[in-house]
Amino acid sequence: MGLFSRNKPKIKVQTTKKDGYSGWVKCTHCHEMIHANELQQNLHCCPKCNYHYRLSATQRIETLADKDSFVEKFTEFKAADPLNFTDTEAYKERVVKAQASSGRDEAALVGTCKINGKETAVGILDFSFMAGSMGSVVGERLTKIIEFAILQKLPLIIVSSSGGARMQESIFSLMQMAKTSAALARLHEAKLPYISILTNPTSGGVTASFASLGDVIIVEPNALICFAGPRVVEQVIKQKLPPGAQKSEFLLEKGLIDCIVNRFELKGKISVFLEFFTGNERSFAEVDSGSFPKISEKLQKLIQLKESAIWAKS
Ligand SMILES: [Zn+2]
Repeated sequence: MGLFSRNKPKIKVQTTKKDGYSGWVKCTHCHEMIHANELQQNLHCCPKCNYHYRLSATQRIETLADKDSFVEKFTEFKAADPLNFTDTEAYKERVVKAQASSGRDEAALVGTCKINGKETAVGILDFSFMAGSMGSVVGERLTKIIEFAILQKLPLIIVSSSGGARMQESIFSLMQMAKTSAALARLHEAKLPYISILTNPTSGGVTASFASLGDVIIVEPNALICFAGPRVVEQVIKQKLPPGAQKSEFLLEKGLIDCIVNRFELKGKISVFLEFFTGNERSFAEVDSGSFPKISEKLQKLIQLKESAIWAKS
């Protein structure tokens, strides 16, 4: 968690004598003054510099799902402490504190919803619960929703923001990487699409498993996506990383992700892929007016492959 504690823009409400009332917020990324209402209306993206502030799982659902369409599932899997683990604090106590501060019972929220009318299975990680870390419950809930998608023949979307595997569960948390990956392989065999959405920050065992396995990998702008964070890498290789390394734009250039989409366009773009990849025999140009500024070569090929399959049939 220490990885993300420095230089992290936070929303700070200013209540100085000068402006005299609360509600004014200083963007810690561009240092401009913006109003909290404006920030909220802008889906928590800075209207001046487009910095994407973190969303809770609930806020994320609100931005993606059609109104009142989300149904939460697999809440029967509750936080456990398989190793009876204690470091500076007992893991059990950390969980209770995380539940109180985040208002969630665990770091993963899974269920089904409609996205522009299309029934979809979804999983969302919430960074405010122990840095969105993946323990047994997160892995199990995600696996269950993947299996549910296979049974119900639904497309799948997972939105990640995570510090990686949950170290308090040691090997049990690492095993979730294999379990979620194997479930996604079965989803792939069932020819159902998986769209992975990466948000700032996503790292460690989450990046190294399900988050990187999307048929399409969409990332929000300027997001840190990595296995080990930049400071750790710099310490190991004893060199400065190039500017923007491990950020969305750099990763798109290097072919690790497929496209970068602004939060306010995300729902629309997800719909485009859902339309195109769920047997709807329309060309990509038909479902999208062509407003992706740049997509990866892999995705271009995937689209061409689907296009040629459509044309071969007709
Ligand atoms: Zn800003």
